[in-house]
Amino acid sequence: MARILFVEDEEAVLKRLLKYFEREGFEVRGAQTGADAIEAAASFHPDVAVLDVMLHEGPGGMEAMDGYEICRALREDGFERPVIFLTARSGEQDKLTGFELGADDYVTKPFSLPELKARVEACLRRAGGARRLFSFGDVQVDLDQYTITHPDSVQRLSNRERDLLEFFLKNRNRILSRDELLKRVWGYKAGIATRTVDTHVLTVRKKLGDNAQNPRFIETLHGVGYQFIGHPDG
Ligand code: CA
Repeated sequence: MARILFVEDEEAVLKRLLKYFEREGFEVRGAQTGADAIEAAASFHPDVAVLDVMLHEGPGGMEAMDGYEICRALREDGFERPVIFLTARSGEQDKLTGFELGADDYVTKPFSLPELKARVEACLRRAGGARRLFSFGDVQVDLDQYTITHPDSVQRLSNRERDLLEFFLKNRNRILSRDELLKRVWGYKAGIATRTVDTHVLTVRKKLGDNAQNPRFIETLHGVGYQFIGHPDG
């Protein structure tokens, strides 16, 4: 089931989008502000983001980020999945701005929901070609199938283990603190013990067939965090 993040400040419009796409079999999440969108991208791991360009000011008159700024922030945060802009504007310059920011499509309001669905599906098909299968010699990691395949066994990953491994793979050779992992993989909910990270790293490491003493994939930096040191083939 593909996951879509919708960012739209008008509650009624957002509700309509969420309701329609949920009924069409997608897993959906909505955000009304830039801050919520960034938080949702980190915790929900959408397969595609649909961003309204025009966002009005946030609570307390805070200056709102527009869709372009949100896109830029998501990309800086390592979000590599397709982005579709939704807007009432149709000027050439706006479209260029969107595409320069790495937008995958641009849908002008008013649009029909089935049209938007067709655009979302086209983006997902194109993004399906993106690399989600990693080989490390005799170990294969398939993020879409939630599996780690060894010559003599197949290990299945839970949602969270998959998300954790995906984050490690995206941030190879970077030292990741427990706090950062909690925030980016778990969406940082207060009250979650740091121990949660260690437990999941332990399980993922086991499924990779890794050895903590002499790691091939995940290195522990005591008192600091973890680092993914494996290099995929090719
Ligand atoms: Ca709007």
